[in-house]
Amino acid sequence: MKITAAVLHRTKKPFRVETLDLEPPRAGEVLVRVQAAGVCHSDWHVAQGDTQHPLPVVCGHEGCGLIEALGPGVSGLREGQRVALNWQPSCGKCFYCARGRPALCAEYTDPVWRGGLLDGTPRLSLNGKPVYHYCALACFAEKAVVPAISCVPIGEDLPGPVAALLGCAVATGAGAVANTAAVPAGASVAVLGAGGVGLCAVAAARAAGAEVVLAIDKVAAKESVARRMGATHFAAADANPFAKVRELTGGRGADFVFEAVGHPKLQEQCLRLVRPGGTVVLVGLSPMGSATNLPGAVLTRRELTVMGSYYGSIDAARDFPKFADDYRARRLPLDALITRTYDLAEINEAYSALLAGELARAVIVF
Ligand SMILES: [Zn+2]
Ligand SMILES: [Zn+2]
Repeated sequence: MKITAAVLHRTKKPFRVETLDLEPPRAGEVLVRVQAAGVCHSDWHVAQGDTQHPLPVVCGHEGCGLIEALGPGVSGLREGQRVALNWQPSCGKCFYCARGRPALCAEYTDPVWRGGLLDGTPRLSLNGKPVYHYCALACFAEKAVVPAISCVPIGEDLPGPVAALLGCAVATGAGAVANTAAVPAGASVAVLGAGGVGLCAVAAARAAGAEVVLAIDKVAAKESVARRMGATHFAAADANPFAKVRELTGGRGADFVFEAVGHPKLQEQCLRLVRPGGTVVLVGLSPMGSATNLPGAVLTRRELTVMGSYYGSIDAARDFPKFADDYRARRLPLDALITRTYDLAEINEAYSALLAGELARAVIVF
């Protein structure tokens, strides 16, 4: 079948929207007609070469769509069903899955990072040459063949862009708050980075009953969206967020600090924002090979906890529907997050706007 997709042929070059061949789904796979795909920084890391990936590749890992066809042996899903896509498929059997940590599943990491589906081979091609799938999803395309286990049924009532965001920004940001850190009611929370992931952490912290939710971003104009997402306070990064956090917490620092950018300098700044005995949660993905100075002399004396949170420590089958319910109940005001939508043909424009700090989250709508 011929499909239209945004293809990355070389790093540091624009995406090219072109026609590819897509094979039908094999055993354990489904064909999805993509409805919406979020414009996330992780795809940009691939485009820049900060995340190494076989090329050419179709990116897009935050999506939703309708199932058009089931491959052999697929059960529990049906044609026409609305699904949100999970970019970290889990096997249900390995050491981590057996211990309730599917976001760490060891079984499928290898084939997925080789750019194929779970059997290691791609379904996409251009003039007979393979084109790879990012996260086994490749949803910057009108249609995608994906692992059946990446599909989480989600209600028809959710707007497409909202359903798409469940798969990355919401899972990563809200999951870090609800699952990894389990922020309790009454806590004080600071979030560095008011992009899609950081703003979902803000919303989830407020939903958890945090009393102080301080959003910090280098772009002062992010204040209005941060407040609509639930921030009680906002600090532009150049306006001394350290003084602001102390002012809001009786001079102590925040109980929880979330770093949602993935920048070593910001990760180090978290230690100046957190109170003694508090918790720093590293959510943003830093470039592979980068290093962060987290001094033991400080961590020990102040009894700090530093946690990594990968994909919000989620169990997609449990958490996507739960976050969808949080949206319906207005505990996660995700409409405020979606700054604008684009056509697939405008994908390079969408990334330019994202990098210029003009967007909270943009979504490509098909
Ligand atoms: Zn597993
Ligand atoms: Zn993402």
